[in-house]
Amino acid sequence: MLRIMQCTDNHHTMLETLRRHGIKNGTVLQAMSRVPRDAFAPTSADPRDNPYGDHPYPIGHGQTMSQPYIVAYMTERLNLKQGERILEIGTGSGYQTAILAELGLQVYTIERISKLAEHTVKKLTDFGYSNIHVRIGDGYKGWKDESPFDAIIVTCAPAIMPTRLIQQLGHNGRMILPIGIEVQRLVLVRKKGDTIEEETDIGVRFVPMVHGES
Ligand code: SAH
Repeated sequence: MLRIMQCTDNHHTMLETLRRHGIKNGTVLQAMSRVPRDAFAPTSADPRDNPYGDHPYPIGHGQTMSQPYIVAYMTERLNLKQGERILEIGTGSGYQTAILAELGLQVYTIERISKLAEHTVKKLTDFGYSNIHVRIGDGYKGWKDESPFDAIIVTCAPAIMPTRLIQQLGHNGRMILPIGIEVQRLVLVRKKGDTIEEETDIGVRFVPMVHGES
């Protein structure tokens, strides 16, 4: 399958906004310039809706694709290196998944809504990614057989810290996730041997992390 990765006017505007918001990591910005965000967004009946806009975008099933800034910010904060293994909880549209794949990571991603996951797998396969592994399941359990991971990114919000995911981080592992119900904040977890450091970061608004499959 042919991968068309054009840097469009929409990309330029989005990248300018990301830089204005303070995103500096050139590798992350480059990955975001290569992925066509519109290909991951369902077509809207309203032509004014722009998937590249500085806001989240609805993807159906009551879920949303995160605002580009939040995708970039969470990715940047994980300080990822090519070849690392990352677990993503909440595949959704597959947009964040594609950004991680563009960074040359081995991506393991879990989505609880089977219809959404099946649609997304098809899309990611059409794009030709061979470094993405998708599983339909409950992300609270993580992916033990493929652990330990160098990094974990959670794109739905649990009410409290999911400790099982921390167990699946390797030495020097990093995890970023939103925590909270109404008021949510990003939390960055760093694991060094048996020591776990937690840093509370910016306020965010994510869909809730839900137990079980659907
Ligand atoms: N990163 C996605 C964000 C999608 S919204 C994107 O770029 O499109 C969050 C996703 O998390 C939804 O698809 C939702 O179904 C999923 N989700 C919620 N709870 C989950 C759980 N326990 N396990 C796996 N996925 C979950």
